[in-house]
Amino acid sequence: MTNMGSSPSRRATWSNMTPDEFFAKNEDLFQDVSRCNLPPGWVTIVDEFCTRLRNEFAGMLIAQVKEKFGTLRIYLKPGPSEAWEIATVYERMTETICERCGQPGELRSERQWLRTLCVPCNSTNEQ
Ligand SMILES: [Zn+2]
Repeated sequence: MTNMGSSPSRRATWSNMTPDEFFAKNEDLFQDVSRCNLPPGWVTIVDEFCTRLRNEFAGMLIAQVKEKFGTLRIYLKPGPSEAWEIATVYERMTETICERCGQPGELRSERQWLRTLCVPCNSTNEQ
């Protein structure tokens, strides 16, 4: 019954990192990781933003990332307005990416909380 190494990881197609791994990798960019809340489906998006922040705005910090009204919010410490504009672009990406699995999704408003989810995640309906 051993069948090691033959099935490709489904997770690898959208992200190699869990939110915990993401924060461990990018801890230096965050003012306070404990105030952040990053759904697993958006790790890839925020990781890309962190790479740009590092490369284009060295020294600039992220005050907080969190889900609000079904999409991501990125709050930066004071710095160049260009960095805020780029953050907005990445926030908008989360309007069409499932927050649980990273597949294409849309904002769902039929339950108590707004959530951006793909069809399968929306039908599993955890909350
Ligand atoms: Zn999903």
